[in-house]
Amino acid sequence: MARYTGPVCRLCRTEQKKLLLKGDRCYSDKCPLNKKRGAPGKDPKARVGKRSEYGIQLREKQKLKRMYGMMERQFRLTFDRASRMSGVTGENLIALLESRLDNVAYRMHLATSRSQARQIVSHGHILVNGKKVNIPSYSIKPGDTIEVKEGSKKLVTILDSLKEVSKSGVMPWIQLDIDAQKGTYVSYPRRSEVTDLADIKEQLIVELYSK
Ligand code: SF4
Repeated sequence: MARYTGPVCRLCRTEQKKLLLKGDRCYSDKCPLNKKRGAPGKDPKARVGKRSEYGIQLREKQKLKRMYGMMERQFRLTFDRASRMSGVTGENLIALLESRLDNVAYRMHLATSRSQARQIVSHGHILVNGKKVNIPSYSIKPGDTIEVKEGSKKLVTILDSLKEVSKSGVMPWIQLDIDAQKGTYVSYPRRSEVTDLADIKEQLIVELYSK
């Protein structure tokens, strides 16, 4: 599956929002957004024009898509799936994004960023319900167990990342046994529980794709 391989901090600068694509660096002084750097290619003194309704909707979609490290086609397919589910499409979209295996591994603190989690999954270090799954977009269901393969439990990347649990805790829809490097995806998250997406207006994405 294709993925973006260009400079990721540039994506945050375009959106003028921390998309948290680089793990620890995002929380350090090295983050370019902490230095108040503007959007790439823009004269900082240039007047900022008013964005059209379409422009605002587009930027919201790009933000969410980039946070989860997805390309347009895959994101659109996820949206289509969300729109066929019962309930609120925008909330379904967030729940489906959160249930991707690479994201669940990230939420379990097996990696410091979603891109690192994606690598851990595609390199075959993760088992779902006891079976190896190396597809980052694999959709986790409530009740599924996710664990690090026995032979990978000493990987420095994973051990270092798990140290972060004590600082930031675990999302309420995941039960994590740190010592066993194993977790259970208890339920799909409620929208209000995904606190780091609090400022994302998913309704704008629904409006964009409904045109
Ligand atoms: Fe974005 Fe992280 Fe780069 Fe900051 S360090 S611009 S949050 S990817």
